[in-house]
Amino acid sequence: MKIIFLGAPGAGKGTQAEMIRGKLGIPIISTGDIFRQNIKNRTPLGEKVKAIIDSGELVPDSLVTELVSDRISREDCADGYILDGFPRTIPQAEEFDRILGEKGDAIDLVIDVEVPDEAIISRMGGRRTCPACGESFHVVYKAPRKENICDRCGGPLTIRDDDKEEVVKNRLVVYHKNTQPLISYYEEKGKLRRVDGTRDIGEVHEEIAGLL
Ligand code: AMP
Repeated sequence: MKIIFLGAPGAGKGTQAEMIRGKLGIPIISTGDIFRQNIKNRTPLGEKVKAIIDSGELVPDSLVTELVSDRISREDCADGYILDGFPRTIPQAEEFDRILGEKGDAIDLVIDVEVPDEAIISRMGGRRTCPACGESFHVVYKAPRKENICDRCGGPLTIRDDDKEEVVKNRLVVYHKNTQPLISYYEEKGKLRRVDGTRDIGEVHEEIAGLL
């Protein structure tokens, strides 16, 4: 099963991907997490993308597509994968379809988690992330058991630079311009399913589980 999660930043893609990962037993590939890991470890890739990510703009298409193409050729992706945050532009989607097509392969399902901009802005203000393990929380919707402490690894939680309000607003502009067109792209291919992401995390999960 090869699944893409679409949706604005902060729509809950990552949380929902995490919730179905266990059911399907396939890995999640989050391009944002891969970049953040590289920034944290100060790798050449991290150095290249840090300023772009901090401003809320997109990393160049060829760089991201190559990264994902390498990642899906690893053994753990043999039975499928969940893509969170990729593709984010039409050229990425087209190139990815071409790469899969060469292997006689294709995406099975694209889930669009829909949340209006105003809700995104208020949600992102409450988002907290663990820089050590990448787990994310929300002060209202997914509070950690201990305030500001990661449930998974016990590390202190922080606000990502790109979750700050001005950057979030820019990420939404970038999303509408570059990523939203992917909704029609996959709809025309008959792959798209829309999910109302404004509801409770558990309800959204039930609906997604029903689609699988
Ligand atoms: P995310 O955690 O998915 O919101 O990604 C964080 C940041 O990483 C984005 O704001 C972009 O700067 C960059 N990024 C992640 N995925 C992509 C992608 N598919 N194409 C371009 N840039 C990306």
